[in-house]
Amino acid sequence: MSRKVILPGGTIGIIGGGQLGRMMALSAKAMGYRVAVLDPTPESPCGQVADDKIIAPYSSQEAMEQLAERSDVITYEFENIDEDALENASRITWVPQGSELLKVAKDRIAEKETITSAGLPVAPYYPVKTEQELIGAADELGFPFVIKTATGGYDGKGQVVVKDEQILSEAAGLLSQGPCVIEKWLSFAKEISVIITRNTNRETAVFPVAENIHENNILHQTIVPARISDLAEKKAIELAVLLANALELVGTLAVEMFLMKDDSIFINEIAPRPHNSGHYTIEACETSQFTQHIRAICNLPLGSTALHKPAVMVNVLGEHQEKLLTSLPGLRDWNVHLYGKNEAKTGRKMGHATLIRSSVDEALQEIEHIGIWPK
Ligand code: ADP
Ligand code: MG
Repeated sequence: MSRKVILPGGTIGIIGGGQLGRMMALSAKAMGYRVAVLDPTPESPCGQVADDKIIAPYSSQEAMEQLAERSDVITYEFENIDEDALENASRITWVPQGSELLKVAKDRIAEKETITSAGLPVAPYYPVKTEQELIGAADELGFPFVIKTATGGYDGKGQVVVKDEQILSEAAGLLSQGPCVIEKWLSFAKEISVIITRNTNRETAVFPVAENIHENNILHQTIVPARISDLAEKKAIELAVLLANALELVGTLAVEMFLMKDDSIFINEIAPRPHNSGHYTIEACETSQFTQHIRAICNLPLGSTALHKPAVMVNVLGEHQEKLLTSLPGLRDWNVHLYGKNEAKTGRKMGHATLIRSSVDEALQEIEHIGIWPK
């Protein structure tokens, strides 16, 4: 196991120039690192704050090598990158996270197999490749179920909820995009997530459990502390730690979970990077998920994840931005983050705001009262 440490002054290469890359870069800059980013667009959210940008498609082997040559350590901000290219980069520079976890996280079939073989619970599921298999698996599972493409899906894209036989043909349509999984539709009590970080010295730190509210399959709000039982909280953290150990995690892992009414938990999916449900940590925790990630990949000691006060994070999508901006002069003690994206498309994540209040109810009421997010 490498005990290499990257000290400030060194250059962190980030694959992907979106908002997660931007917030990683801002943390890295605050710590005194240089940042290089690879992204196909010239004014990407991360490119705007990086020292050095390589503007090229992610598939460009040459660009990936260039990034590797200019960086002392490489990380990534999203999972749909080519693991062979990352592998090549690791011949040139340090890639402490490796490419194994990336492979697992970008394919729902591999993801579920890995979680299951670690002895951890997922919703009952079947991988399906053909319409025949779909019909057979639907028969086993019963309605309702959800079909998801194995790769490429995010924010509910590449998914169809199948309530009865009539929608089976629509579901079968997804198979034209490649292998899928079908999983039982769970009537969960809450969606929660746990973000866990591990450095190459195997030091581990877990952030407080977050309660997540989705709207149209896109994260809307994250509430911390989660309004769940102590037992559920303990179990959720335990699951995240067991999974991180089984995966020999280096870097950050976000674990999305379904909490059932009886406090049992199923793991929904994982992301091997900082996560939208961890943005609250920037103001609410002693160490933010982005700073923690940089510490982990540079192999510095991890920081405390202590929560200072109750927090609610609310996402600013394209349709919310204008109203947020006109309301901004009246928003006292709102921690507003905007990602520097120029086109405010509906459903596009433009920014977020975190409210730190004496209770989550107080924060929730204030957000509702402001009227930017219609009920
Ligand atoms: P994505 O990659 O789009 O985030 P997810 O698998 O997390 O995909 O699904 C998006 C959302 O759809 C989840 O956050 C949850 O609200 C809902 N969902 C997904 N799978 C199930 C399921 N098996 N039962 C109930 N709800 C589900
Ligand atoms: Mg999800």
